Amino acid sequence: MLTASASGPMAASVTARNLAGAPIAAEIKARVKADVAAFRKRNGYTPTLAVVLVGRDAPSAVYLQQILRTCKSVGIDGRLVEIPGRASAARLRNAIVALNEDPLVAGIIVQMPLPKRIPLTTVTGTLDPAKDIDGIQPINAGHLLLGHSGFLPTTAQAAIEILKRSGIPIAGRRAVVVGRSNVVGKPAALLLLRENATVTVCHSHTTDLGAHLRLADIVVVAAGKPGLITGEMLKRGAVVVDVGINVVGDRIVGDVDAGSVAAVASALTPVPGGVGPVTNALLMTHLVRAAEAQVRSESPGPRPRRPAVVGGRA
Ligand code: NAP
Repeated sequence: MLTASASGPMAASVTARNLAGAPIAAEIKARVKADVAAFRKRNGYTPTLAVVLVGRDAPSAVYLQQILRTCKSVGIDGRLVEIPGRASAARLRNAIVALNEDPLVAGIIVQMPLPKRIPLTTVTGTLDPAKDIDGIQPINAGHLLLGHSGFLPTTAQAAIEILKRSGIPIAGRRAVVVGRSNVVGKPAALLLLRENATVTVCHSHTTDLGAHLRLADIVVVAAGKPGLITGEMLKRGAVVVDVGINVVGDRIVGDVDAGSVAAVASALTPVPGGVGPVTNALLMTHLVRAAEAQVRSESPGPRPRRPAVVGGRA
């Protein structure tokens, strides 16, 4: 049961199961930790996840620090590559090329949003698909669309992973995704489709959002609008995955009005502590998979060479 919103007049009517991300993330990370140790034993070095930050956007920096902490907790080397906010697109491109060619670096993520002057294609057109562990470049996006195995965008994957690991049936159920961004909404819709849900995608031009939501057994919300979804817009018993992360005053809240939604939904992910931790844990699994593929040289793109100097972190 949700307790965070169980105060005041709503307390008696809270029904939703709390789909906390921490236990799922812990399970995933325990497995990754073992996989990293085995990788190191087999190959004699520790794979690196490079995180690129352009400028000094405070929320991005906080998010990247969380990723670096997660790396440390599972034995992956995290490398922060900071590029000044006023740097040119060429400078960012060169930094990505250098990471593409670095044999120790198995995966690269570039924090979004980029400064407005720098087109997204600077990243998506440069990133080696074999190191694109957050699935943002066109080859991995194409794999997702076609249902082939590639690197999935981790936040969307986390939303579906929480449903699956919580034993919530997806096949044959009606799912509504609110949001159609390339990083969350669209991939979440495609993944739900892959799981055989009947999927509707809503966005800012959708008229009468509630009319769609009231038909949904599963709702995935990624709009970046605090309080967008209220209990009265939902079918009783719906399962709600709240991907939104919004700073309201000194609090972090999702896109749903947790109090009224928890009174109607059968299950709800909390914010913070729902999708976020699972996203980071899944990113680690992608890194290990990328490292394994690069060692086997099965992946497309520049072939990583085994490092000349064996890393001393065994
Ligand atoms: P985004 O690129 O801004 O996309 C937002 C989407 O929501 C757009 O498709 C937009 O529609 C739609 N939308 C906005 N207002 C709406 C409304 N009133 N009704 C229906 N749809 C509406 O955002 P994003 O990158 O996908 O991120 C979404 C949220 O997820 C943000 O809060 C972000 O912080 C959070 N997030 C969380 C994680 C995590 O790990 N938990 C990771 C990434 C992002 P249009 O396309 O028509 O504009």
